Amino acid sequence: MSLNKLTIKEAGQGLRGRDFSSEELTKACFEEIDGKNVGLNAFVELDREGALEQARAVDEKLAGGEELPILAGVPCAVKDIINTKGVRTTCCSPILRDFVPPYDATVVEKLKEQGMVMLGKTNLDEFACGASTEHSFFGVTKNPHNVKCVAGGSSGGSAAAVAADMCVYSVGTDTGGSIRQPASFCGVYGLKPTYGRVSRSGVTSMASSWDTIGPIAKSVEDIALVMQAIAGRDRRDLTTLDVAVPDYSSFLNGNVKGLKIGLPKEYFGEGVKKEVTDLVMNVVEKLRESGAIVKEVSLPMTKYAVAVYYITMPAELSANLERFDGVRYGKKPVKPSDDLVDYYFKARGEGFGDEIKRRIMIGTYVLSAGYYDAYYKKAQKVRTLIIRDFERVFEEVDVLAAPVSPFPAFEIGELVDDPLAMYMADVLTIPANAAGIPAISCPVGNTIAGLPVGLQFMAPQFEEGRLLTAASVLENL
Ligand code: GLN
Repeated sequence: MSLNKLTIKEAGQGLRGRDFSSEELTKACFEEIDGKNVGLNAFVELDREGALEQARAVDEKLAGGEELPILAGVPCAVKDIINTKGVRTTCCSPILRDFVPPYDATVVEKLKEQGMVMLGKTNLDEFACGASTEHSFFGVTKNPHNVKCVAGGSSGGSAAAVAADMCVYSVGTDTGGSIRQPASFCGVYGLKPTYGRVSRSGVTSMASSWDTIGPIAKSVEDIALVMQAIAGRDRRDLTTLDVAVPDYSSFLNGNVKGLKIGLPKEYFGEGVKKEVTDLVMNVVEKLRESGAIVKEVSLPMTKYAVAVYYITMPAELSANLERFDGVRYGKKPVKPSDDLVDYYFKARGEGFGDEIKRRIMIGTYVLSAGYYDAYYKKAQKVRTLIIRDFERVFEEVDVLAAPVSPFPAFEIGELVDDPLAMYMADVLTIPANAAGIPAISCPVGNTIAGLPVGLQFMAPQFEEGRLLTAASVLENL
């Protein structure tokens, strides 16, 4: 088997057994990237020299008999909204097209401590705003299963890179579904952790009360390994909580006997394609046969989640993007003006794409005097009702199981001119972000047309372990 196809676990074992070197593994990934990236557009920046240097350093240590963490020497791809010291980080926006961060995000720092080999940066919708990467300044990422289709978004590049074996694993961000939806479209695993479980320091903020960072990988075990490395309190991100990080691999016990799985009926209703429901239910039935107790539950507030998100997210986004004015942050306008307001207009007019402008306008509108109570405040109250829905249901069941997306990957161009239709693609992923709970996307098979479908498990806050147990059983069905 080609080295680039290995999982973290397999690669780690091979490296320790001296079956191959990290340099060879890294080169195998670059070869795959060289063959495929022109077609797929998953990577927007490569760091060949840096990666090979990291790989050789690990090889040397292994040759010297040093014991290293399992992630050491294993090639990873990083979403281009996550700061990487000395490697361009653009958020796929024109306003940051030349930005080279002077420091690493905490997740990158933590992965480097484990000996990560960082191959390069992956494509996303500008500032992570989208569900298809069609809003990227660098153009769309294509789905490795069918290049006429999108890879999903906003972490489309991270998911496609894993699915096409251009890297062993990747990291992405999930504010309203951006890890889970592309993972499901590309047929790989993706975990959105509990809000506050993984530090966001050094990651450009989209919507601060929703943003999370997590892994995309080829197996559940790999998801557990990456989580082990990146979870935990960080004094540079005070939204991270001081909750002990469990041994995630200990949850991969393959046993769902007695596990109570709830099926929220609102996630199987109108607008969800039958082929998607069928593939998900097929697996749920098998979990029942393996000893899980499956019952239908109701989350009646689900129908308001998209509206809540598309009011509060733009409000937070518009505030977060205020700093990009071409003065302290962001590219200067082509012809700078002496008039400050005119300067801002030019810098931001040239620097942001249409979708970002749309969201800034919505965000400033819902926050403006006279509209704040009617929109922003009301949405916050409804968000609380969504949270209560989950709290109530988790008194009855251990995890929830549902489709990730109402439909498989759509065609490039199909939704891009219809923002509302694109926003509805997030209908099943947004609720978990609203409640800050963890959720994992798992591949459950392909449609007749050959497009992957994903099932997500959701659990109460800080119960990632339950997700891993359920997902590991599903993986072996
Ligand atoms: N598709 C959603 C949006 O456009 C989610 C994005 C995300 O999770 N970053 O906002």
